[in-house]
Order: sequence, then C-alpha cells, then structure tokens
Amino acid sequence: MYLYNSLSHKKELFVPNDPNLVKMYTCGPTVYHYAHIGNLRTYIMEDVLEKSLRYLGYPVKRVMNITDVGHLASDADTGEDKMLKGAKREHKSVMEIAKFYTDAFFSDCDKLNIKRPDVVEPATNCIDEYIHMVQTLLDKGKAYLAGGNVYFDTSTLEKYYVFNDHDEEDLAVGVREGVEEDTNKKNKNDFVLWFTKSKFEDQALKWDSPWGVGYPGWHIECSCISMKHLGEDLDIHAGGIDNAFPHHTNEIAQSESYLGHKWCNYWFHVHHLNTDTGKMSKSKGEFLTVSLLEQKGYDPMAYRLFCLQSHYRRNLVFSWENLDNAAMTYEKLIARIAGLKSEGSVDEEAFQQLKQRFVGALNGDLNTSVAVTAVYDVLKAKCSDATKLALIQDFDQVLSLNLLQAAQALREKQAAEAEAQADPEIDALVAARTAAKKAKNFGEADRIRDELKARGIEIIDTPQGSKWRRV
Ligand code: AMP
Ligand code: ZN
Repeated sequence: MYLYNSLSHKKELFVPNDPNLVKMYTCGPTVYHYAHIGNLRTYIMEDVLEKSLRYLGYPVKRVMNITDVGHLASDADTGEDKMLKGAKREHKSVMEIAKFYTDAFFSDCDKLNIKRPDVVEPATNCIDEYIHMVQTLLDKGKAYLAGGNVYFDTSTLEKYYVFNDHDEEDLAVGVREGVEEDTNKKNKNDFVLWFTKSKFEDQALKWDSPWGVGYPGWHIECSCISMKHLGEDLDIHAGGIDNAFPHHTNEIAQSESYLGHKWCNYWFHVHHLNTDTGKMSKSKGEFLTVSLLEQKGYDPMAYRLFCLQSHYRRNLVFSWENLDNAAMTYEKLIARIAGLKSEGSVDEEAFQQLKQRFVGALNGDLNTSVAVTAVYDVLKAKCSDATKLALIQDFDQVLSLNLLQAAQALREKQAAEAEAQADPEIDALVAARTAAKKAKNFGEADRIRDELKARGIEIIDTPQGSKWRRV
C-alpha cells in the first residue's frame, strides 16, 4: 500500500514495523461540544484507512484519546480550557459535559458506520503517565520551569518544524493566532507540558504534581496515551491537517526527546471540510452536525458517500447542493443493487478480476473515489448477480455504506407498498376497461374509468399496459 506521508511530503510504500500488528493512533475529539461534519470527515477517512489496512491483510490496533482536559481556546497555550468554556455555556460540570459529548460523538460515529477504535482513552485517565514524561524531559534538560509552568524547550531540538517547508514566521505560535505572547517562554515555539499557573484560576480539573497543583498541556496526552497502549514505536499517526502544527509537531518534539529515538513512521493528515466562508470549526459556533442532516431528511450514509467521493488530501467544499447530489447518487446506487437477484453462483475468476480494481484504488494512497467507482464497474460487469452481490459485500467492509442492507430495506419497502396497493376488485375493473377499449366499446371504458375515479383511483396507461394508483 502506498500512503502519502506528511513527514517526507511523498507517497511512500507502507511498511509497518511488524506486519503482524499495525499500530495506529488517532487524535480524538475535544468533547466540549458536538462534533461537526468537518471533524467527522476526518474520522470517516481514518476509519477507511483502518478498514483498508485490515482488508489488505494487516491486523491493526488503533488507539484514540478523548480530550477532556488541557485543550485551551488557542492552540498557542493561551485562553480558557475549552472544556471549562463548554461547562460554563451549559451550566454543567466539566465531567458532565465530557460524558455528554463523548456519548454524542460515538452516537454520530455509529450513524456514519465509523468503527470504534480498539482503545479509547480519556485524557484525564493518564495523569501519572504525563507526570512521568514531564519529569523525564526535565531530567534530560529538555524542559524547564518558568512562572510555575513546565515548558518544553524547543531550542534543544535539531529540527522543530518537521512537517513543513513553510516560512517559520508564518507558523510562529502567537503570530498565527494573533494572541499575546507568553513571556515565560524562552523560545517562541516552546509549549506548556504542565500548567500550574493559568490566568483562569477556576480551572475545574486539577491534580497534584511535583511542580504544584495543576493540569496537563494539550499535546502531552497523545504522546503518553499512544505509548501507554502501543509502546515506543508507532506506525501511523492520523489527524486533521490543522493538527499538524502545532499539535503533532509538539507531539513529535516531546516523544522523541523522551524516547531518544524516532517515534512514528507515517503521518496521515485529512484535509478540511470547508464551507463558502472557510473551514468549518466548532469555535465559530455555527456548524453542521449529523443530527441536523438527519432532521433535514438526509441519510447519514449520503454524507459518508459524499466524503468518500473525494480524496482525503483535498479540501472538500460543503454545500447543500453537493450533499443533494451525493444523496441522489446514493439512492440510485441502492436502487441498482436492489435490482440484483441472488441467483447463480459466484464466478471466482470474475470476482478476483473486479476486486483488483478496488484493491488498486486503496493501495494508491487511499483513492476512495476510484474505490466507489469500482462498485459501478461491478454493476456493469458481465457476470452473475451472485458474483456482483459477493463483490459488493466484500467492498462494503471498507466503504461501510450499508450497500446490501439498504438494498434489502428498499426491496422490503417496495414489496410492502405493492402489497398495500393490491386490490383484486380494482385489478378486475382495470382489466374490464382494457377489454372494453380493445373491443372499441369506449363508452363502457369511460364509464369504468369514471367509476374508478369516483373511488379515488387513477389509471395510468403505459406501453406495457394500464396501471393504477390511489390519489
Ligand atoms: P477537535 O474535536 O477540535 O479536537 O477536532 C477533532 C478532529 O477534527 C481533529 O483531527 C481536527 O484536526 C479535525 N478537524 C477540525 N476541523 C475540521 C474540518 N473543518 N474538516 C476536517 N477535519 C477537521
Ligand atoms: Zn493528538
């Protein structure tokens, strides 16, 4: 499998440290609000990556954190903790907010067929691990105490900006966010590992530490949670592209300084879902959720298909028109699959041939739009319906679009409608009208039509014969 690696800016052959266990880590949600459909784009594509790896024969262990402490309003370590902000907004405790929005997140994931990672760990569970890593960094001279907080010292690194060839000034924390500079920092990119002094004295969750009562910085949780469950070497770390800097850059700085060796080999970044006014974001306040799409009558699968139709390394523009198109495509696709009969036997040769295109798409840096077109190739192919159904079932292990289930539901709906409509007396009257017309007895034909009309039945004449429906 070839994957684009943000570290090298190239597509690289994916070679896990141990082919018997791919270790994958993904940054989880900050649970101070609902996930918006932009966040969920990232989780959908990560889900496709995990399922593709499994489909291609790699066992995977995937770990995800839940950020329930330490993510401040600005990525530059300033502002209020987002969790506290959420708690104040809703007059609830931080833990109540965390529980509510964690549950809401997984309920959205269920609706979008996003598999739950093997391990899900809330940040507040691992305080001992953070204290241990921070102490080790202090002992190694990679961190310092200033103004009551512990900072990572970026001047100890050979290279800090590992992901980008951007101008350093563009990326400078503070400059980017337009926030006031933290004067405790020795270097502008230094970041907080442990806070004891914050402008916000009412920080809800605090723990004792060798440096005083406080709470962890945002970045430390992902390094420690990953190492807790996956050890010192990581194959793939995934997240949204906005996390590349400063979050992932800081994760690498502290992890590799702590370990004394390289930590993660492949970095997988999903690009943004944008609206016509820019990146969809929780902090802007107005954003779209899966529930809102459902309220408007959209099947969450239409949104999943919308995401799969574009490559994860391209920005995706959301508009209602674009979503309507995806919904229509989904409906038509399901109708075509519903038309397949489970007859005949599976033709192994055709199966393998058609599967190759799908596998090739996944292997080529997760080209999901080509993977979706592989389903259409199957529908058009000259092979038995049984082969087609077997292939669609096979592909849907990765696509997770409920293709066979939705087709079955459609067939059941159509059968129920036909049954509700069935009425032998009306069938007989329609047949009598057809016979009268054939016998050129138009008066009788009109009389029957009028009688049916009075009973609320409309006749539709088609080249295949006369049909009827209730009006
Ligand atoms: P958060 O809950 O804010 O920590 O974000 C959860 C995930 O969603 C992170 O991996 C972000 O990088 C990602 N993300 C945030 N905004 C967007 C967006 N508009 N489009 C795609 N991914 C996003
Ligand atoms: Zn993270």
